[in-house]
Amino acid sequence: MSNSSIIIETRRLTKVFGNDRKDGGNAVHALRGIDLTVAAGEFVALVGPSGSGKSTLMAILGCLDSPTGGTYSLAGRRVDDLSGGELARVRNEKVGFIFQSYNLLPRASVRRNVELPMLYAGLGRRERRRRASELLEQVGIAEKADALPAQLSGGQRQRVAVARALANGPALLLADEPTGALDSHTGQEVLALFGELHARGNTVLLVTHDPSVASLAERRVEIRDGLIHPAGDARDGQATVGSVGSPLGETDVTLRREEAAA
Ligand code: ADP
Ligand code: MG
Repeated sequence: MSNSSIIIETRRLTKVFGNDRKDGGNAVHALRGIDLTVAAGEFVALVGPSGSGKSTLMAILGCLDSPTGGTYSLAGRRVDDLSGGELARVRNEKVGFIFQSYNLLPRASVRRNVELPMLYAGLGRRERRRRASELLEQVGIAEKADALPAQLSGGQRQRVAVARALANGPALLLADEPTGALDSHTGQEVLALFGELHARGNTVLLVTHDPSVASLAERRVEIRDGLIHPAGDARDGQATVGSVGSPLGETDVTLRREEAAA
């Protein structure tokens, strides 16, 4: 496998919120050394208990935040040491991010929401229009192009968010609990959409609590207390074997954090 077919490669990735010295030992070690490799075209489900570091990892993978330590290469380019402006540019170009809460601009039409990343990327007006129409067609809500987000159902809003995420032809699609705010039927429909995107060759990493979502993916990566759990992922688990013991509940997570901070 050549390097260009690796989309995500992290080594010993860490994220600490706060500072043990300044905050009296209350720093949160959200990620404690994540080794994760995702190849082009994979569909990976990221699972783990609440507070285990899923959203923190997704934010770093999506170039919304920087790690405290370790390395991250996105589509063959180191991004862990980029400044805010550079990081924002890489994000707009390479990543499509889908949030549980949709994060659409409320005062902008559906079409405008989808066009915005293309505007930032410098695409001309005509091309933006053409591509937005095509994407809205692809996610099945072309007829809502002129509506405002508030006029749409949750499932429709999430489809707009998916179209927006696809706007600049990203190397990576990230979705943090994209069906979390939807009823189960609508959630399944949105999920099927991710299945289609994967079938079209997109690389998808999706956070979920829903076991049916995790089974739809080709690979399941489990994160516990800021580390990838060996049992959850044979390929990436190697480096962390022995570092995580028995299954962790929330209490154990807290205890471990106190240990780490001590
Ligand atoms: P998950 O998405 O798996 O529920 P998160 O990544 O949101 O977990 O959180 C992991 C840990 O990091 C939690 O203990 C959370 O409280 C903490 N955390 C997340 N974001 C911040 C932040 N901005 N400041 C301080 N602590 C944070
Ligand atoms: Mg989360």
